Amino acid sequence: MNGSDGEAVARAELHAACLRMVADGLVIGSSGNISVRVDDSHAVISAAGVPYGRLTADDHPVVDLADGSWTGPCRPTSELALHLGVLRALPDVGAVVHTHSRYAAAFAVARLDLPFICNENIATRAERVPVTEYAAPGSGDLGAAALAAFATQPGSRAVLLANHGVVAIGPGLDDAYLVAQSVEWTAEICHLARTLVAAGTGEHVLDHAVQDAIARNYGVTIARAADT
Ligand SMILES: [Zn+2]
Repeated sequence: MNGSDGEAVARAELHAACLRMVADGLVIGSSGNISVRVDDSHAVISAAGVPYGRLTADDHPVVDLADGSWTGPCRPTSELALHLGVLRALPDVGAVVHTHSRYAAAFAVARLDLPFICNENIATRAERVPVTEYAAPGSGDLGAAALAAFATQPGSRAVLLANHGVVAIGPGLDDAYLVAQSVEWTAEICHLARTLVAAGTGEHVLDHAVQDAIARNYGVTIARAADT
């Protein structure tokens, strides 16, 4: 580690993304984690076990990609092996965002791949977001499972970790973060669409008399097609 400007920039953007991940509802507490490649042999990775709001950018450790050693005031996330596995195997990846967002996690629990259903899928650069084989959180096997799923669609940017969450990757942190958001958006829309289909005709429409009664409360009228 050399305390470079690039390292400071990476720490700052990583910390901002950690805070945003909580604010956006993609994780709770100190869960989820992020890594940002600094150079060919180092990455900044989110600190372990402390809610992000209690940390500063300087608390996030810097990891040597070759041997996994790290420096910094706080130890790395328990998912260090996952991040190292992805950053080592995929040299074009500049950042890894791992979330536990709700709808995506539900697909991962159900072991359902996420299909291509709307514009937001574009962020993943893939026709599906596949679910990995199950591997325990914090294990080296988790990284291997993620890489195996990425390898099924070379160039893809997201996988679902079975019974766990999302791994989103990209050339930079902004790209990877957008992938994580897009996977969650797509998973929610897919779930809602399937729910509506399963429900048949869907919503119960209030009849004209009820609509008019509501409108009177507001002192307005409800516009209708001329022939109804
Ligand atoms: Zn996790």
